[in-house]
Amino acid sequence: MKRTVLITGASRGIGAACAEKFAQEGWRVIIHYHQRRELAYELASRIERASGQVMVVQADVSKAEEVDAMIHKVLLSCPRIDALVNNAGISEQLLFTDITDDQWQQMMDTNLSSAYRLCKGVLPSMIREKYGSIVQISSIWGLTGASCEVHYSASKAGLIGLTKALAKEVGLSGIRVNAVCPGVIDTDMCRHLDAEPRRELASETPLGRLGSPEEVAAAVYFFCTDEASFITGQVLAVDGGFQIV
Ligand code: NDP
Repeated sequence: MKRTVLITGASRGIGAACAEKFAQEGWRVIIHYHQRRELAYELASRIERASGQVMVVQADVSKAEEVDAMIHKVLLSCPRIDALVNNAGISEQLLFTDITDDQWQQMMDTNLSSAYRLCKGVLPSMIREKYGSIVQISSIWGLTGASCEVHYSASKAGLIGLTKALAKEVGLSGIRVNAVCPGVIDTDMCRHLDAEPRRELASETPLGRLGSPEEVAAAVYFFCTDEASFITGQVLAVDGGFQIV
């Protein structure tokens, strides 16, 4: 039987690479997007042309009612979700003293509360099946903290706490929860950076370059396979060695 994965923020970047990877490995993929409808449907068509099975869903993950409606729709069509990848996210660079309450809240709603709601939404079906894998896409900044990204770093550190605590709680139900912390990955999220800061970030990375979305997707996929059947509550940096301690 085909396994099913729900990937948030799969219209582009890391989420899209995850969708391609799971589809290549024979999984049924539920592609979630927010605003880039065209990209999500192009990706779905590519996967279908390669004989993959896909479903496309839309929601603003920062809005609880939209997440709940999306999960309801997904579960009607596929009552069994084998894996959830909480990838959708935003970043923003601001001095801490310039962050407004609204900006703080938007960051938490999009990056952290969304994962809470999505986990809550899929867990009953995973518990029923006594099987499931959840992967949170955190960030190296969630591990080390980034100057001028306090709200982003806090939201990503929150995902690590959620991962560890939830892994302890749902382990006996056969569900594994892990986190992947990407380093600097070449996606739209980093494309605002000028050539000089990109060069600097690459030179601060022991492997001497930015990472690709596919390199993150490989780690995400691993966590969802039976090869990782005894791995839970772990936080894996996919960062070219950026934050070796
Ligand atoms: P992109 O900016 O390329 O893509 C972001 C994705 O998130 C898009 O699919 C977008 O949907 C979706 N999204 C954004 N806001 C919302 C929202 N309110 N509701 C629903 N979906 C939303 O980012 P990346 O691929 O680079 O990042 C993916 C994840 O990896 C993020 O959580 C990010 O924090 C994390 N990460 C990225 C790093 C990097 O260097 N790139 C480093 C560390 C962590 P749409 O396109 O439809 O609007």
